[in-house]
Amino acid sequence: MSVHPTAARRRLLLRGLAAAPLGIGLGGASAAARAAAPRALSFSHTHTGERLHAVYFADGAYRPEALAEVQHLLRDFRTGEAHAIDVALLDTLHALCGACGGRAFEIISGYRSPGTNAMLRRTGGGGVARRSLHMDGRAIDVRLVGVDTARLRDAAKVLGRGGVGYYRESDFVHLDTGRPRSW
Ligand SMILES: [Zn+2]
Repeated sequence: MSVHPTAARRRLLLRGLAAAPLGIGLGGASAAARAAAPRALSFSHTHTGERLHAVYFADGAYRPEALAEVQHLLRDFRTGEAHAIDVALLDTLHALCGACGGRAFEIISGYRSPGTNAMLRRTGGGGVARRSLHMDGRAIDVRLVGVDTARLRDAAKVLGRGGVGYYRESDFVHLDTGRPRSW
């Protein structure tokens, strides 16, 4: 079967776009190389003490084994329930790590089960949404080791990929993959 060269080119272009989830434009070879480069994240969890270094993207694809490790780490630590984590959230963390020159994220909260979210709404001091993106694996509360939390917030707002909440008293930033907004 022969393929019309224009159609083949268009397919290649579309494939290139699909492989660039970081919002990197078609800015030439270096941008393409950056989009294809392995992506890794280092974490420590403030509640469980667990640590993880995960190469979650390599050879042009997200790695299921690494994503499973991340999912386990980001489980609801109160109940043990786990949920798939939005890879766009991991890409946001990866971009922020690069932008701020940090090395590892401290996790305050990842996935929250509906029961935990309801409990936090009852007992917490506010700021917990009824339909929190934490319940969809699309939100995380973090700080970046060695980087001022206000700087992390500023970098996240510049990145503009989702929600950014700044909690100065508790010294963490909420990041999610919902529509860009900040508080
Ligand atoms: Zn949050």
